[in-house]
Order: sequence, then structure tokens, then C-alpha cells
Amino acid sequence: MTILLGTKNPHKLREIKEILSELCKAQLLTVRECPFSDVPEEGATLEENARRKAHTICAQTGLPVLAEDSGLEVEALGGAPGVRSARFAGERRDDRANIEKLLSLLKDVTERRARFRCVAVLAWPNGKELLSEGILWGQIARAPRGTEGFGYDPVFIPDGYDRTLAELGPQIKNRISHRRRALEGLMRQLQL
Ligand code: IMP
Repeated sequence: MTILLGTKNPHKLREIKEILSELCKAQLLTVRECPFSDVPEEGATLEENARRKAHTICAQTGLPVLAEDSGLEVEALGGAPGVRSARFAGERRDDRANIEKLLSLLKDVTERRARFRCVAVLAWPNGKELLSEGILWGQIARAPRGTEGFGYDPVFIPDGYDRTLAELGPQIKNRISHRRRALEGLMRQLQL
């Protein structure tokens, strides 16, 4: 089976490729081999954005497409930044500014429980789709630590660890992440 990965984010692409190489034998294509245009992330939920991306790129290319949308949900902030994670501090999608805003909102907050959530959708040209969600629970650190990964990785300490995802690095992250769990769910359904 051939699957086109419906993201242009190089960090997500690397993680998805590494994870899927362990989970399935599908031939993975990217925007390099099969160009597609950007799909605006205007939906109110991760589910809506992931489905829209997968189906739109599928219609553009005629290939089965795997797309995902993901975000950080902080309990003390009522689930924010959530679907707005990439643009939390403004339209520029600036990871450092997003982290600064998050840490300043949580400055005097001791309850720092949070989760990463990923919704992955696999869509076919005939309209068929599979959807799966993956969650990783943890805590927001007091200050950024580590250099690996992207987005909020430097301030996210997964349950069971005392280091941030940016300190733990890709081997551990790709074993436990929300993205890993969502993709495992998809592959499980694919084999049914
Ligand atoms: P989008 O799916 O491109 O809208 O971006 C999701 C945003 O959520 C990213 O830009 C990050 O800010 C955040 N995010 C999603 N997954 C991760 C992750 O695995 N690590 C760190 N941040 C993430």
C-alpha cells in the first residue's frame, strides 16, 4: 500500500516516518514526491482539521492520505492552547514565543497537569476514512529544558519521567508520544 503523508512540517514528517517504519510496510510518500497545496487549519477541533487535511489532499492527489492535527491541552488553562497550539502567541507560529506565553500564564500555578493530543486520519479517494486519537499525559515544567524535538517539547515532562521530551530525545519520544499512540490505533484498524 502507498500512503501520502499530508503534512509539510519537517518535525512531524520525521517522527511519523520513524514511527510508521516500525508499524507497517506501506510505501510512504511526502510532499516532495507528490506536491500538494496547504490546507488552512480553520477548524474548531483537532478532529475537524485532521479530517479536512486528509480529505482535501486526497482529492488533490488521488492517493490515500494520512494527516494529523495535534496540540497541547493544559488543565489549568481550561484545555488551552489546544487547537490553537501552533499560533498561541500569534500568527507567526513561533515555538519560543508560544512557550514564553505558556510559562507566563502558569507563573503562579502549581497544578501543571497537561496532555498532548493527536488525531490522525487516513482517507481514501473513494471517501473511506479511519480516525484514531492518541494522548500523552504529563506536566508543564517551570522552565524550558533540552534541545531535541519541536513545539512545546522543552516544557513537557511526560508521566513516569523527570526529563522533558526535548531532553529525552526522539527514541523515547517516538515510543510513548501522542503521535505514536494515534498511529498505532490507525494501523490496528487497518489490519482488521
Ligand atoms: P499543527 O498541527 O501544525 O497545527 O501544529 C500543532 C502544534 O501543536 C505544533 O506547532 C506544536 O506547537 C504543538 N505540538 C503538537 N505536537 C507536538 C509535539 O509532539 N511536541 C511539541 N509540540 C507539539
